[in-house]
Amino acid sequence: MAEPQELRERMVERQIRRRGIESLSVLTAFRTVPREAFVPESLREFAYEDGPLPIGAGQTISQPYIVALMIDAAEIPPGGRVLEVGAGSGYAAAVMSRIAGEVFAIERHEALARSAAERIDTLGYDNVSIICADGSLGLPDEAPFDAILVAAGGDKVPEPLKRQLKLGARLVVPVGGEDMQSLLCVTRTGEHRWDEQNLGGVRFVPLIGAHGRYEDGSRAASNHQPARAKSLPEMISDAAEPLPGIDDEAFAAAFDRFADRKIVLLGEASHGTHEFYAARAAITRRFVEKHGFTIVAAEADWPDAAVLDRHIRHQHPRTGAPRPFQRFPTWMWRNSVIAGLMHDLHALNRGRAPDEMAGFYGLDIYNMSGSIEAVLAYLDAHDPEAAQVARERYGCLTPWQAEPATYGRSALTKGYAECEQQVIAECRDLLQRALHEDGGMFAAAMNARLVASAERYYRIMYYGGAESWNLRDSHMAETLEHLLEHRGPNAKALVWAHNSHIGDAEATEMGSVRGEHNIGQLVRARWGEQVALVGFGTHTGTVTAATDWDGDHETKRVVPSRGDSYERVCHDSGVPRFLLDLTPGRHDALRRRLGDPRLERFIGVIYRPETERWSHYSEAVLPRQFDAYVWFDETRALQPLTPTEPHEGVPDTFPFGE
Ligand code: SAM
Repeated sequence: MAEPQELRERMVERQIRRRGIESLSVLTAFRTVPREAFVPESLREFAYEDGPLPIGAGQTISQPYIVALMIDAAEIPPGGRVLEVGAGSGYAAAVMSRIAGEVFAIERHEALARSAAERIDTLGYDNVSIICADGSLGLPDEAPFDAILVAAGGDKVPEPLKRQLKLGARLVVPVGGEDMQSLLCVTRTGEHRWDEQNLGGVRFVPLIGAHGRYEDGSRAASNHQPARAKSLPEMISDAAEPLPGIDDEAFAAAFDRFADRKIVLLGEASHGTHEFYAARAAITRRFVEKHGFTIVAAEADWPDAAVLDRHIRHQHPRTGAPRPFQRFPTWMWRNSVIAGLMHDLHALNRGRAPDEMAGFYGLDIYNMSGSIEAVLAYLDAHDPEAAQVARERYGCLTPWQAEPATYGRSALTKGYAECEQQVIAECRDLLQRALHEDGGMFAAAMNARLVASAERYYRIMYYGGAESWNLRDSHMAETLEHLLEHRGPNAKALVWAHNSHIGDAEATEMGSVRGEHNIGQLVRARWGEQVALVGFGTHTGTVTAATDWDGDHETKRVVPSRGDSYERVCHDSGVPRFLLDLTPGRHDALRRRLGDPRLERFIGVIYRPETERWSHYSEAVLPRQFDAYVWFDETRALQPLTPTEPHEGVPDTFPFGE
């Protein structure tokens, strides 16, 4: 794991500066305060994550960006006097103490106030005073202040705080419901005048006190009851279109609204949920049968998917081809739903002309050795001289084929890319030929592209960060583009990939914080309204996943969704299975309400319920991420197939050898 100093730099750069906070004094303050000293010991590894963390007594240390946004908006003058209400861990007070002359931070929880004071003392921030009191009353004895920050939300701006501002000073405070508030910046412009600016939606713990709420969440300072607006779950329930069972024809028919799009991307919130696979299979069957879709492109390795593709297109298995999907996580494509879908696509293709048959293609880049093998096999059969050249070029990668990740390590230590030129040359040659030749040449060229991408991928993987992710998703989007070109101007494609690949990355932390893009974003940018991005989600149930990379698959219980997630508002709608159409113009009031960022759960092939918040949730804006969202309140684990070996002398039963 990286050193705290490095993580801190990264946090400041990615979470704060890239989101538009440019004040040098604010950025420098964040660079100096050790956030890991303000979180519980057990959560230290998550100290620099982009979210709030629990600090005990049901309270939280706020997300770094929100702390920065507030401090930036408060425009604390150097050397000024600042009041914070809701000291919590003391972190924000410590950051402000690097800018201000004196910081007074009030915390109502005695235990939190005591440990915050101890921490501040140990770290030697001697211009910070932590006071245990009701901060909604302010601190009249020390007023007026140059800035006041409130880190807890009430239903209105506490009057005493407004009056404790100096003229021209700012009060930054969340105001609104318990669920969600608006971050207000109130500037005192006269003895009895204040200007108000809304900085956007936020979620804070309640401000409990004389000018905040009561402990039970009701308002303290007023007994006026506002008219009851509809809750978000009620709005979802109104807009949701309930879906029948997946086997019912009406299930897939509900998606016909997207049948005229060129590309329909179908997501999943985990790589091991039966319903996500079964639903996509039902939609795929219908779209292939009735709506002219001929490309089914998946987050699967190209050479492995090619084995299934030959089967559904009534071609003989390629002799000597390795068994498909032997690499972890095997269950992603070796499972009962995919077996059924391949069977059905095979049947649907019967009697169709070859160029009208649906094909199954892999967009992913992990099976480099499978692709090398396929390129050589093709050239051996069609152009032995070219095969010889390719063999020499790929020879460079031979020592690394079994463990390609070690190639990256070696390239890193040597400081140069040993095999890059050769694999690119091969890729260029085959792509050139694919333009002029038919038949298997296209597949060989796609394999050669994969080898070139994979060589680069394994090399840059060692630098971590966005670059390797972006390379992989760019490769997948480009492969899709090649497929569409190859299948002709009217070709239409279905894409199966995780929500993290198909939901527009610009609407998630991936894009906004980590600088990552994905297939959804790239195809939207390229094809605009001809694309539909369909996300999937669930509240609880079971999932097939491993505990560690390369581990065995297990059936794991999915923890019920968090109170501050999109999943929870869908669960609270009370509709067990639904389609939510998020296309602009359909449910705009709901889209606006859903448009304040919330947490969303992402389970891949690994599931770690123990650290679920930090391992699996991140922030997103659902109505910008997807054009539609499919909900299954309770789901069950995907059923993997067992990888049985073929018996001696008996041909491998195609395509899975079951
Ligand atoms: N700024 C803090 C940090 O950096 O760790 C995070 C604060 S946490 C989101 C909000 C805190 O406000 C909680 O610790 C809560 O106990 C406190 N709080 C709520 N109402 C309060 C009040 N009336 N007076 C003082 N503190 C209050």
